Amino acid sequence: MGYFGREMDIVSNRIIKINMERMYKLYPYLFLLLLGCFLGSCHMNSSQNSTDKTDNSPFKVLVLTERGGQHGGFTDAGLQWLQKEALLHNFEVTEINNTKLIDDDFLAQYQLIIQLDYPPYTWTKEAESAFIKYIDEGLGGWVGFHHATLLGEFDGYPMWQWFSDFMGGIRFENYIAPLADGILLIENNSHPVMKGVKASFIIPDDEWYTFDKNPRNNGNIQVLATVDEDTYQPSSDIKMGDHPVVWVNKSKKARNVYFLIGHSKKLYENEDFTLMFHNAILWASSKK
Ligand SMILES: [Zn+2]
Repeated sequence: MGYFGREMDIVSNRIIKINMERMYKLYPYLFLLLLGCFLGSCHMNSSQNSTDKTDNSPFKVLVLTERGGQHGGFTDAGLQWLQKEALLHNFEVTEINNTKLIDDDFLAQYQLIIQLDYPPYTWTKEAESAFIKYIDEGLGGWVGFHHATLLGEFDGYPMWQWFSDFMGGIRFENYIAPLADGILLIENNSHPVMKGVKASFIIPDDEWYTFDKNPRNNGNIQVLATVDEDTYQPSSDIKMGDHPVVWVNKSKKARNVYFLIGHSKKLYENEDFTLMFHNAILWASSKK
């Protein structure tokens, strides 16, 4: 948790923006990658008809990132992982780290929005209304992580009530500041997001937010996983009892899934976490 709100430059590229210093080091590799893509597309054009080409067009994913601060490591690791996923599963990633570009036309390009720890405040009014339309009308899917439920009054901003309702009518209450490991219990292994995921596994170093209400009590919410608070290492008194950590809002036309976890870059070393993320991308980017 902690602070958020540093103004950052707009980032919008077909290729994920990395900081420029690292980009220079990557130029030779980027050149080879682009050359490979060019040669690959020539081959595809000559060997496939136009119908196939349409079928093979990559779909577009918008990633709204929280950069720097306590979540910088998780975000950076996430972007690197997404680049690999994008190559494997034929999608293109655009990263933005604020909402200034978001309006109806901008979002219309994307089949999926991934909210990589970006909180539900500091959004422009135009971005809020475009996002609401996108989710309510099912114009694409949504996968959100961790800070996306920082719902309440923070950094001088009021709570975004629609977003709270989207997440099950909850308000952020507390978190485990020193971090704790905890065991996740999958309770809905028939859901596509949980396909192939182990029934329980340890999630390292998370903050395990608590809320004023249990999202399970909201009729629109379907819980996919909980954390067993008795397994916290080190133990903590900050508990909810029944503590959902992965859930979907079934009332929305957009396929959507929220993961409460998303604090540590170590998550990307956890094959069950990356499998859930992978499943979530493929499921949520397909229309209902
Ligand atoms: Zn965190």
